Amino acid sequence: MAKRHEVTELLGDGIAEELCRSVRAVAASLPVEIAFDTVNLEHSNRRAAGRPIYDQAAASMRRTGAGIKYPTATIEESPNAVLRKLLKFAVIHRPVTTIPGLKTHFTGKIDLDIVRVATGGTYEDPGQMIGDYAAVSLRMVDRKTCEQAAHYAFSVAARDRKSLTSSSKYTIQRVTDGLFEDIVADVAKEMTFAGQVEHRRELFDALLAKLVMKPEAFQVILVLNEYGDFLSDLASGLIGSLGLGASVSLAFDDRGRVSVGMFDAVHGTAPDIAGQDKANPTAILLAFSLLLAHLGEPKAAGALRRGLFDCLDAKEATPDLGGDLGTQAFTEAVIRRAAERLKG
Ligand code: ATP
Repeated sequence: MAKRHEVTELLGDGIAEELCRSVRAVAASLPVEIAFDTVNLEHSNRRAAGRPIYDQAAASMRRTGAGIKYPTATIEESPNAVLRKLLKFAVIHRPVTTIPGLKTHFTGKIDLDIVRVATGGTYEDPGQMIGDYAAVSLRMVDRKTCEQAAHYAFSVAARDRKSLTSSSKYTIQRVTDGLFEDIVADVAKEMTFAGQVEHRRELFDALLAKLVMKPEAFQVILVLNEYGDFLSDLASGLIGSLGLGASVSLAFDDRGRVSVGMFDAVHGTAPDIAGQDKANPTAILLAFSLLLAHLGEPKAAGALRRGLFDCLDAKEATPDLGGDLGTQAFTEAVIRRAAERLKG
């Protein structure tokens, strides 16, 4: 009998409702049993309920350990920023994969899992002036967060039988990036002892060049905050879309294990097409596939991902990708293709 999973569902704005229907339909079609605990983060409800609605969302995610979040409008506050603070998300995992049928300038095949330390680096400190002619900022590399990120990245690599590359400027930022690489090497010793994961390190500038010249050499890439920011956008540009990506924000317990994973699409609420059956659910369905893998349902996760790509490869797509299917018809096509993959 299928294991029953409880998952928090955070409703949002714009096309969120259509995306939610798509995920629900796909979830019902797969051989998994998921009970959704719904928290309404629509703007009108946030305004009416105030802070307690975020407390409810955070409490639900702490209990279930996994949430799917639909796009939310940033009007008074940024819901993502509030949730990040409340749940102490420390790491972001962003897979970037070549999408069949998508026109790109770049012809190489990308299939990366970018695991990024989500805090620190130069992003905590906007800097300060020293007199009138110079400015300075602090760069923070925190041992605990790096350990959490490294453990997570190695566990993804071991789970998916992938290699792991850590990348930084350790020859120049010898203390900060050096600490990061030392921590990764320590975690690597633990993991390679089990004979599971091949680990190598690359200077970040060299990594960018090699990634463009030989993308198939890279699988899981582990980086500090700002490098991860640059790398995610570069990789998205190479696959020809900033808008089809999915990501997961992760929090950890005292023993370094993932305590909460929040899965979402990189794009926004697309109010211009809301309610018109035009929304492309690819990114949120990729996020849902990641969620399924996280729940320990690799078969369903793989079938959904491959089913999605089979559709796009066959030009079964929504209007934003040049297709003529509405959200609902595209979802039905994905369900059919995922079912074929499950049989195959
Ligand atoms: P927000 O303020 O929530 O970020 P936005 O419209 O400024 O919303 P996006 O939601 O990322 O930013 O949308 C940018 C453009 O991409 C819009 O024209 C939108 O219709 C389109 N778009 C975004 N997501 C999708 C999607 N899932 N399917 C189809 N088109 C989309």
